[in-house]
Amino acid sequence: MASAEKHITLLHGGGGVYMHRLIKDYILPRIGKHRRAVELPLEALADSAVMDGIVFTTDSYTVKPIFFPGGDIGRLSVAGTVNDLCVMGAEPLALSCSLIIEEGLSFEILGKVLDSMKTTAEEAEVDIITGDTKVVERGKLDGLVINTAGIGRRSPLLDHNLERVRRSGRSLSSRWLTASNIRDGDKIIVSGPIGEHALAIMIARGELGLQAPSIGSDTAPLNRLMEDALRAGGVVAAKDPTRGGLASLLNEWSERTGLGMIIHESRIPVSDQVKTASEILGIDPLELANEGKLVLATAPEAAENVLNALRSNKLGRDAEIIGEFTKEFDSVVVETEIGGLRYLPMPLGDPVPRIC
Ligand code: MG
Repeated sequence: MASAEKHITLLHGGGGVYMHRLIKDYILPRIGKHRRAVELPLEALADSAVMDGIVFTTDSYTVKPIFFPGGDIGRLSVAGTVNDLCVMGAEPLALSCSLIIEEGLSFEILGKVLDSMKTTAEEAEVDIITGDTKVVERGKLDGLVINTAGIGRRSPLLDHNLERVRRSGRSLSSRWLTASNIRDGDKIIVSGPIGEHALAIMIARGELGLQAPSIGSDTAPLNRLMEDALRAGGVVAAKDPTRGGLASLLNEWSERTGLGMIIHESRIPVSDQVKTASEILGIDPLELANEGKLVLATAPEAAENVLNALRSNKLGRDAEIIGEFTKEFDSVVVETEIGGLRYLPMPLGDPVPRIC
């Protein structure tokens, strides 16, 4: 990391090793201290913080291009923040919308983005209740950057869900869906095919020089899908596999729990188009960002029920149980389609920069 120590590079925003080091070694020691009691503080590095019963999160969106197959920066900025709230077990209530606009952006483009934000907010049943608008000089920004913060409150379904876990005599470390609740033997579920968002962005940039198959981003608010899983009961931890993809998420869980896991490659849902494009580009779909997928850890006995609940929702119809936590390993191990074992490391960063 010699060159990375003096300056920020695109890799620092990539959701992998570089970004995690930036946060842990540089950002947290400076701003991570708090005076009031925070139930789930910044240093927990969860998708949202929790304080005084309020679930709170923020996310900035710098995606290039602004419009892409399957979505746009407006849809992304609502869905991404809703998803960071709902994976905690929260019911999203309201969002802020902060726009940083480059001088020269057309009203037509801005209007389309705002309409898309509104439509996606209606889909997720959240309101946008506060905001801010800034304009910077031409050439100082790539069109438009959006920040959305979101607040939510504990979903009654979360208590119902955790009650199912406790009923089997198991104690929980957290009353939120964080990795600290995970135990040896817990199952890992992915809600649908991976890799679509990052590849859709890559193809939309037209930089590939290949006959790109048609791949649309999966960008979607997942709060209703999450509710279906909680209603089934037995979910102990949840996260959305955004930058750095499934590889980054599974490594984070392995690090936090001190447990290894075995992932069965043949069970990971990947579309033929994503498989083909990844092979041509020499990238691992496991490292690609998703914006409409959930990864859930469940108590072993609850996995089938949760799986069926996900599959009953169109956003989760291709869900699969892809593996389980195990003390036998201390890292993420993938059983390949031909039965071999390979180690899946934390990626350095998402192979595609500026995807969200
Ligand atoms: Mg997230």
